[in-house]
Amino acid sequence: MTTDQSPRTTESHKDQPAEVSNWEIVNHYFDIAAERLGLREDVAAVLRSSYREVQVQVPVTLSDERIHVFSGFRVQHNGARGPYKGGIRFHPEVDLDEVRALAMLMTWKTAVVGIPYGGAKGGVNCDVRKLRPAEVQAIARSFMDKIEKVLGPTRDVPAPDVGTNAQTMAWLMDEYGKLHGHTPAIVTGKPIALEGSYGREAATGRGVIDVLEELAGTLGMQLDGATFAVQGFGNVGSWAARILHDKGGKLLAVDTEDGSIRSDDGIDPHALYEFTFHQGGDIHEFPGGEPIAKDEFLATECDVFIPAALGGMIHERNAELLNCKVLLEGANSPTTPTADRILSDKGVYIAPDVLCNAGGVIVSYFEWVQNLQHFRWDEHEVNERLAKIIKRGYHEVAEKAEADGTAPRVAAYELGIQRVVEASRTRGYIP
Ligand code: NAD
Repeated sequence: MTTDQSPRTTESHKDQPAEVSNWEIVNHYFDIAAERLGLREDVAAVLRSSYREVQVQVPVTLSDERIHVFSGFRVQHNGARGPYKGGIRFHPEVDLDEVRALAMLMTWKTAVVGIPYGGAKGGVNCDVRKLRPAEVQAIARSFMDKIEKVLGPTRDVPAPDVGTNAQTMAWLMDEYGKLHGHTPAIVTGKPIALEGSYGREAATGRGVIDVLEELAGTLGMQLDGATFAVQGFGNVGSWAARILHDKGGKLLAVDTEDGSIRSDDGIDPHALYEFTFHQGGDIHEFPGGEPIAKDEFLATECDVFIPAALGGMIHERNAELLNCKVLLEGANSPTTPTADRILSDKGVYIAPDVLCNAGGVIVSYFEWVQNLQHFRWDEHEVNERLAKIIKRGYHEVAEKAEADGTAPRVAAYELGIQRVVEASRTRGYIP
């Protein structure tokens, strides 16, 4: 294996199954919303591009005693509404194009749910599945050393995303603290022992189910007895599955990077979590499910399908397979515009990422607020406040979609963009 993982060009062309990139997906919806809002082209250009894009070299000596050069990115898309906010992803396919797209999505997301942040995202193109914990720690620390100048509790506050977790946030906080003194509010999603917030780990999955709870009322669906399938069984997917299971939902199928399983009797997501996370078991050997092929997983007949893996996983060549009533987007940009059209034509209700997975950033906001006050709320209070904010977001989006006769995603983008435009105008950034 080459030790140099830095990209040959600014935008690497990865082998992705989707017909479009994450950047093209986010831009597609931005363009639709900008046109509907009648934004001037020069104003749209300001809102479409990033405020700051940082690319850094992350050289780390791994256990083979050789220096491996990874690439790290932090993109700050728009800070009109508050400090930049967004996760850090450790994944081999991370590149500038993807980070840029995810940063822009964060700008609209924080605005849709009305929390005082801008949008950012970061990442390093490393494969944590092939690295030892000490190596991941070295990458996290080296990355923080390179980007700390553009971060700060009132400037830019990272959080976990794919391939990172509370432990990674602890290393990032510690590294930042060496230079600036103890600063818990520099990252969110920290462990409870280091001023993390109760409820943060489960927050994105919980928010996804909060949204389902609201829209189920509108669609005349009961959560108790609802059947569902989950794509991705990491932080978001496993928590969404556990919470929906506890509300009476029946998990029929699960898909991960390592394979898919199904059980018509229902999979117990608590047992699956214990088996895969704590016992290190292979999903195919889980006693409560049968291995199935990917296409069979996608075709699972269910009430609710929850994509909670990577972007572009539901695309023009597989969208037709889906057999669900509701698509709850736990992942960011899981559905390409063509797939979105195919599913909408089939009558599937799509709860868009920009609203549906905002629970993580909402509770990150609570964690930051608690850190700034050196105070802590209990989990019940966190969960109640989360539900209040994300359900308000759902109703604002649903009412606008209904009034305008548009899809919830278009209504959500319009709401988000409108709020950023208003903040930018009031500050005097744009006319
Ligand atoms: P994670 O790393 O904890 O889990 C990712 C899951 O995706 C794993 O189960 C992995 O096996 C699965 N996966 C990867 N490639 C796959 C493939 N080709 N087919 C099927 N499954 C595959 O990541 P996470 O934090 O749960 O994030 C999942 C998604 O949710 C991402 O799109 C992320 O941006 C989004 N998101 C995360 C948060 C958060 O708080 N963690 C907040 C908002 C949105």
